[in-house]
Amino acid sequence: MMVKGYIGKCAKIDLTKDKVEVVNLPEEYLKDYIGGYGFAAKTLWDELKPGTDPLSPDNILIFNIGPFPGTYLPTSSKYGVFARSPLTGLFGMAISSGSVGLQMRQAGLQQIVFYGKASKPVFLFVDDGDIQIHDAKDYWGKLDSWQTEDKIREEFHDERIGVAAIGKAGEKLARIACITNDRNRQAGRTGMGAVMGSKNLKALAFHGSHQVEVAKPKEWKALALDLIKRANGPSTLKYRDLGTPINTLNFQKLGCLPVDNFREGTSDRANEISGETMAEKWVIKKAACSCCPIACDHLCLAKEGPYKGSISSVDFESLFALGCCSGVYDMNAIIKAIEMCDRDTIDTISGGLCVSFAMECYEKGYLKKEDFGGIEMNLGNVDGMVKFV
Ligand code: SF4
Repeated sequence: MMVKGYIGKCAKIDLTKDKVEVVNLPEEYLKDYIGGYGFAAKTLWDELKPGTDPLSPDNILIFNIGPFPGTYLPTSSKYGVFARSPLTGLFGMAISSGSVGLQMRQAGLQQIVFYGKASKPVFLFVDDGDIQIHDAKDYWGKLDSWQTEDKIREEFHDERIGVAAIGKAGEKLARIACITNDRNRQAGRTGMGAVMGSKNLKALAFHGSHQVEVAKPKEWKALALDLIKRANGPSTLKYRDLGTPINTLNFQKLGCLPVDNFREGTSDRANEISGETMAEKWVIKKAACSCCPIACDHLCLAKEGPYKGSISSVDFESLFALGCCSGVYDMNAIIKAIEMCDRDTIDTISGGLCVSFAMECYEKGYLKKEDFGGIEMNLGNVDGMVKFV
């Protein structure tokens, strides 16, 4: 009998051979390694050969959920992506929220392990346990991650389908490529988007109706209700109210705001990109991941200038990397740069810090205008930052 709380099914997909096998995860495996991180670490430890080139077909790419997605526990709709990282050469992992964790669970899978490389671009659709590999020729090289999500939902006539996709950066194997889902949520770190690209895998899509069976429903309900109450209380107020950009002024007070490629810890312009200013001038909507009452996602709209009309969800890390760390305090430009990163699947943290590093190199004369295709790249050059991205 399956351990309660888990769906317990793993799809092993050999993209080279176009072969899918579904296995039940053993009870001791579920009990000993517990959640998504544990399962993925164990699988990589057991199956990945030492010295594997992270962008070769020999790397193993894992999508995993733990026991919580599909329950009404706050912040439970998480999924993790794991592989040997092309950025660090070490254990690569990136976590995201949105609807994908929930939909993967409802589609009937706990874990997906990809081996090999597809002979042509493909995407995966898991429809209530039915695992399908589709040709992605109309997507690859043509659609960014937002368009991919829209097209898959349109093609399969269901707005609820959870889609995790790569854009240009993943297809071109940029080592800082991330994976985007629900437009504004990213499995951001360690280059997992590049590993998807190296396997010719454009997207994963999920939809289903499997329900979660918990072991002790009464106790579970009491615990979950308590956590929901606390998730609506003072400890998460900052995320619900101003979102993570509240940290701009907190870091400023502590003297550790990343400014001018980490050369300074404060800025007299910090207020221009604070959570407070964002809430007053730029935020147009707050959104939540599936089953989460916190709703920390703060969507901002660029209202004027050349970037007018751009929309993105602005988190503190993206804000400092593409903002003050690069000497940029123009919210319209920051919103635009985040939107480009999210669509083309560039990790905003690594992408932003490439900008600030390049700017310092430019200021010190190590890199010249010609190295940037004619772009002026001095710190604080708003247009330079956007063009570089
Ligand atoms: S809404 Fe915010 S707090 Fe809730 S799961 Fe999503 S990212 Fe986490």
